[in-house]
Amino acid sequence: MVLDKAVAVEQSPLVLRDVATPLPQPGEVRVRVHVCGLCHTDLHTVEGDLAPHKRPVIPGHQIVGVVDALGSGVTNYKEGDRVGIAWLHSTDGSCEYCGRGLENLCLNGRFTGYDVDGGYAEYSVVPAEFCYSIPDVFSDEHAAPLLCAGIIGYRSYRLAGIRPGENLGLYGFGASAHLVIQLARYQKCNVFVFTRSEAHRAHARELGAAWTGRAEDTPPEPLHAAIFFAPAGSLVREALRVLRKGGTLALAGITMSQIPVLNYELLYHEKIVRSVANATRQDGREFLQLAGQVPLRTEVELFDLAEANQALQKLKKSEIRGAGVLRVRPAL
Ligand SMILES: [Zn+2]
Ligand SMILES: [Zn+2]
Repeated sequence: MVLDKAVAVEQSPLVLRDVATPLPQPGEVRVRVHVCGLCHTDLHTVEGDLAPHKRPVIPGHQIVGVVDALGSGVTNYKEGDRVGIAWLHSTDGSCEYCGRGLENLCLNGRFTGYDVDGGYAEYSVVPAEFCYSIPDVFSDEHAAPLLCAGIIGYRSYRLAGIRPGENLGLYGFGASAHLVIQLARYQKCNVFVFTRSEAHRAHARELGAAWTGRAEDTPPEPLHAAIFFAPAGSLVREALRVLRKGGTLALAGITMSQIPVLNYELLYHEKIVRSVANATRQDGREFLQLAGQVPLRTEVELFDLAEANQALQKLKKSEIRGAGVLRVRPAL
């Protein structure tokens, strides 16, 4: 499903057509795609909210499939191995950020389905060092949402600095939040979920939320940390209002509407507001291992590859429960 030109997703900009099968370059593997998860970033790519990098481009960066060809020099995978491909496609390994363990901020980082073709396709290529092994406990379709929603959720959770038994707020309850709540419950945190959608509130309670409400509501106890999955900057003030002294508010979205002027008293007492950008391979490996241990349950709604436009339209309207996943080929 190829994007030539970014327009509103209601106009179905993705086109099903044949393209040349990619060849793995030295150090790369080619993956025969089984499934690819849907992400809001795909929607931002398709609609042009993100500056265009590659045109035409095949979106998709939560890919699960099997290695089907090896570039020269690849020794850590063999044909037939099941692997995942995530948003971080490659880095230079040499810039100041890579040197400081912040490869997510690499000056020359390249991203799957944005700088290079992604997983809304039958094949995708990636440097072997940027592949992930998938725990056996997950089927292909249930593993797909772990690769972006899960990994970025995990980095946000880590950067929010929440400790076992503390109170965590989640703003928005889509694909990431429904994984983070399970991780937080596994670590004995009390989770308070803020969302406008009654369906999402009910889902959060099923997954162990201690309380649910709207962003304007006041939870029974103040929060030690909160993670924003909602792209609504206007709600930052509401979150700071119910955050304890020294608490962190982590903003996990790749885009967000404007944050209104804040009275300093909302931020005083060493509260921290920080963004979260991309994730490192270490985040991915740690998270996938933990996800298998818990094990995290992903709820997925399946679509055929050719239905990618309709699936993204549903994502835009928050009509997908859990995570949307495109089925490219049936699992072997
Ligand atoms: Zn994503
Ligand atoms: Zn770098």
